[in-house]
Amino acid sequence: MLALKNSKLLCTDSLINGKWVKETKNRTVNVINPANQEIIATVSSVGVIETQQAITSAQQAQKTWRATTAKDRSLLLRRWHDLLLKNQEDLALLMTLEQGKPLTESRGEIAYAASFLAWFAEEAQRIYGDIIPSYSNDRRLMVLKEPVGVCAAITPWNFPAAMITRKVGPALAAGCTIIIKPALETPLTALALGQLSIEAGIPPGVVNILVGPAQEIAQQLTSSTLVRKLSFTGSTPIGKHLMKECADTMKKVSLELGGNAPFIVFDDADIDSAIEGAMLSKFRNAGQTCICANRIYVQSNIYQAFVEKFSAKVARLTVGPGHESNIDQGPLINIAAVEKVEAFVNDAVTLGGKIIIGGARHTRGKLFYQPTVIANATQQMKLAHEEVFGPIAPIFKFNSEEEVITLANNTEYGLASYFYSRDIGRIWRVSEALETGLVGVNSGVISTEVAPFGGYKASGIGREGSKYGIEDYLNTKYVCIADLDK
Ligand code: NAP
Repeated sequence: MLALKNSKLLCTDSLINGKWVKETKNRTVNVINPANQEIIATVSSVGVIETQQAITSAQQAQKTWRATTAKDRSLLLRRWHDLLLKNQEDLALLMTLEQGKPLTESRGEIAYAASFLAWFAEEAQRIYGDIIPSYSNDRRLMVLKEPVGVCAAITPWNFPAAMITRKVGPALAAGCTIIIKPALETPLTALALGQLSIEAGIPPGVVNILVGPAQEIAQQLTSSTLVRKLSFTGSTPIGKHLMKECADTMKKVSLELGGNAPFIVFDDADIDSAIEGAMLSKFRNAGQTCICANRIYVQSNIYQAFVEKFSAKVARLTVGPGHESNIDQGPLINIAAVEKVEAFVNDAVTLGGKIIIGGARHTRGKLFYQPTVIANATQQMKLAHEEVFGPIAPIFKFNSEEEVITLANNTEYGLASYFYSRDIGRIWRVSEALETGLVGVNSGVISTEVAPFGGYKASGIGREGSKYGIEDYLNTKYVCIADLDK
């Protein structure tokens, strides 16, 4: 099954100080293919001792890494980027097998993941300080930017590569070292990235990757005074918990959390374009993305036409194992995800939702769910307030711009929002009124390494990617030189 061109990319131990390390008592965890429940690999599952070793190695490596030139760090990141692209097919296969997304999406994610390494290879050389006009002739005031130090990163399974490089890219560029704890469902992609970091020549201890029980590893990372920053991507409840855990050691914290994206179609929109955007936004990764359309709002006079055209497109989606050709939607990640989707659909139907298409498990296997469209969605339904994280498209009706803005913002989340309109006045008004960190106007896919990614409200703190992304890995130091007239 695992016919990799570069067999070195199948790694089953943790990466500490440049070496592959097994857990001392040989604890292991199986990596399961969600398409067929077969075991893909058995990975060593490390804990307290290895986390402490990783912290020590990252601390040691930090001293020399921060002293390297920006140009040298940039070259190493660039080499790592090139290796991701050179091994794109193998990495995509590993990702599809452990995560389930179609191979075309996995290839796309590897390219997206690599783009963060290239971007921050360049940003490494643009970390400027400042000279501040002095308030006194005998004084000079400066601002220096310095690496935060040892960083920890905890990442989710839905984007097993990009959620790692979006953190490790700016960390390394800034002169920080890092300890990464990937999700237990998808460690193989993470470890393969680790192998490529070695091949790229990144020094031992700069990148460490620990596979093991989340709480056990996280507790060591959050309580350590040597770890100066935590960057987490995952669910809002775990993000809140980790923020509290980091308070005692006063770490810098970045949180990329859950979403509940509204996708609004006004009656002046290009409907075909809106349908295309909704398809991409909703069904990519089987609806398991933090920025995917969770609630589709359509203006009442075009509602029926939208529902019909959209459902016809959804009916044409091909569901199956991600490694087969021409698959649009793979399995969900685990049985809990399928059960959550079922519960949301049942709730919607009980409250008057009309299933236009789908609404049940799929015959391809235990973790497959049919792409589903639910019309007559209402604010009472769970689908209006919680992240479904599955291939369910609830369609709500609205009458006015004012009403839909209130509905769109009526959530604790504030990650992404989308709307379709050709009216320039409306485009400005609605863009400014939506309380989200990302707004897509006339597009359902807007992520790029060159633009800032991050949430308002319970969707998080900090920004990743873009020129802003590196700030989270830097400390700002004010230096005042006095007595210059003596
Ligand atoms: P999750 O359950 O919060 O898990 C994310 C990571 O946290 C995993 O590595 C997990 O490890 C770890 N974790 C779980 N419990 C922990 C604990 N008590 N202490 C420390 N770490 C713990 O989230 P998920 O289900 O994997 O991912 C889906 C969520 O991520 C969604 O809410 C989605 O919106 C969000 N997300 C946000 C973004 C963004 O950029 N804003 C991007 C992608 C996903 P184990 O795997 O070992 O349990």
